[in-house]
Amino acid sequence: MTKTESKETQLKQLAEQIVESKICPELAVTATQLVFSDGSANSKVVFIGEAPGKEEDIQGKPFVGAAGKFLNQMIESLGWKRQDIYITNIIKYRPANNRDPLPEEVEAFMPYLFKQIAIVKPKLIVPLGRYAMSVFLPNLRISVCHGQPKRVGIKNWGLETRDEKSIRSLVVLPLYHPAAALYNGSLRKVLEADFAKIPRILSQI
Ligand code: URA
Repeated sequence: MTKTESKETQLKQLAEQIVESKICPELAVTATQLVFSDGSANSKVVFIGEAPGKEEDIQGKPFVGAAGKFLNQMIESLGWKRQDIYITNIIKYRPANNRDPLPEEVEAFMPYLFKQIAIVKPKLIVPLGRYAMSVFLPNLRISVCHGQPKRVGIKNWGLETRDEKSIRSLVVLPLYHPAAALYNGSLRKVLEADFAKIPRILSQI
């Protein structure tokens, strides 16, 4: 990858690398396709979910099912458009029967997630749910730290190439997963209230 290539080109090449490198072949075999990301590579915020579900697997885009509709509503409640925001998952293929990702699957996709972040260079990372949160804040509990921004050093992420110099540390705002909050009234209120903090947190970074 050269520096002159656009962010979009670099992201496309990264997605191709996942397929060519045969990352998690047992997931690739049962999934319809790779679900890499959606939205703008120039976004200041990156939302990171767990893994594609049935609808995402069909459409090839993250967060397009019921949880995605709720996420869209929350994004729009901030006066933003979904297409201006970058959205991805830690796991890029749908696990069969929507089972939880295995630790070795999270590990296998992690370098690609970090590369995505290094290309997009957002100001704020918003992991949705405990799986995505644990990639950035492995020792914390989502029930305790949801809605609280944390500055995370790049060294903790294992990033070391020159490309990533400009993101030595990033602010991470863990939130509950929209699917968990969708049908749980009290969790939904907590998630909506946490979500509403995003513009202020962004303006303070
Ligand atoms: N849940 C996720 O974590 N990601 C998606 O893309 C859809 C639902």
